[in-house]
Amino acid sequence: MILITGGAGYIGSHTNKALHNAGYDTVVVDNLCKGYENFVKWGNFENYDFGSKTLREVFEKYDIDGVIHFAAFSSVAESVEMPQKYFKNNYKNTLNLLQIMREFGVNKFILSSTAAVYGNPDKVPITEDQDLKPINPYGHSKFITEKALEREAEKNDFNFVSLRYFNAAGADFDCEVGEFHDPETHLIPLVLDAAIGKRESISIFGDDYNTADGTCVRDYIHVNDLADAHIRAYEYLCDKNESNIFNLGNGQGYSVREVIDMCKKVTGRDFEVKIDERREGDPDILIADSAKIKEKLGWTPKYNLEQIVESAWKWHKKINVI
Ligand code: UDP
Repeated sequence: MILITGGAGYIGSHTNKALHNAGYDTVVVDNLCKGYENFVKWGNFENYDFGSKTLREVFEKYDIDGVIHFAAFSSVAESVEMPQKYFKNNYKNTLNLLQIMREFGVNKFILSSTAAVYGNPDKVPITEDQDLKPINPYGHSKFITEKALEREAEKNDFNFVSLRYFNAAGADFDCEVGEFHDPETHLIPLVLDAAIGKRESISIFGDDYNTADGTCVRDYIHVNDLADAHIRAYEYLCDKNESNIFNLGNGQGYSVREVIDMCKKVTGRDFEVKIDERREGDPDILIADSAKIKEKLGWTPKYNLEQIVESAWKWHKKINVI
């Protein structure tokens, strides 16, 4: 049985579905502070906070073989406003989870990490061995969590895989689950809100970055490609007695303007685009070099930006019923 923290959230619910389709039993642990119970359509569900001592009850009830840890706060902007909230939940509460895993002899762990650990990278595409210099508390909270995992693996019978996601986007093609944040802060769903008429315009946060068109460049990766990587990472932990850290991205960068243009193309709708102030904590360019996970785990992303936006648009239309 695989325990999935945050399995009622965006990436966790897609991974839960993929694990189920691959024949794994799962138990989702989620306190529903961000997730949705109706996103837990596969396996078992337990409403617990992963930072709580009572989480032990879940380890007593189920025969847990490994943990995939999605539960975390993930808004860069919010982390700048409320850094301690991020350090407490993303770092300190993960130590609680590790402590309980240790007590129950559970030694396989997969962390949802982030490209935000790199800060403004020295060079792009970014390889895993680059210096880690996070420029926002979200990235910092994941950076120190990775360090705690490295120490745990040195000291104990414990292995982990840390997956550094670039920009997760898109939705399940069957629309059984999808992206739904409240409040929404991510670019693609906000642009689709403009396309669907839920908002009048989309704001670009800064057009004076050091990039070709002045807007930030990101590497967008389909959530199902991320889900597939988690299954491969779990199989790796089962087969090999070692820990590892992998980037997960398409290896292709798109500027905010290019993403907006793609959304206009896919939806066939036009809307106003405004230039706004920079958002604090945003690096200019983040593009993954994912050669390591391709080589080690045989993972290759299947979906490009157009397919990502198409799947997101299908889901967006479903939840907004037009
Ligand atoms: N962004 C933007 N307008 C928005 C939301 C996001 O210009 O309304 C930009 C943001 O500044 C960043 C990029 O889009 O450069 C991706 O932001 P998102 O919040 O989707 O992901 P992040 O890179 O923060 O994980």
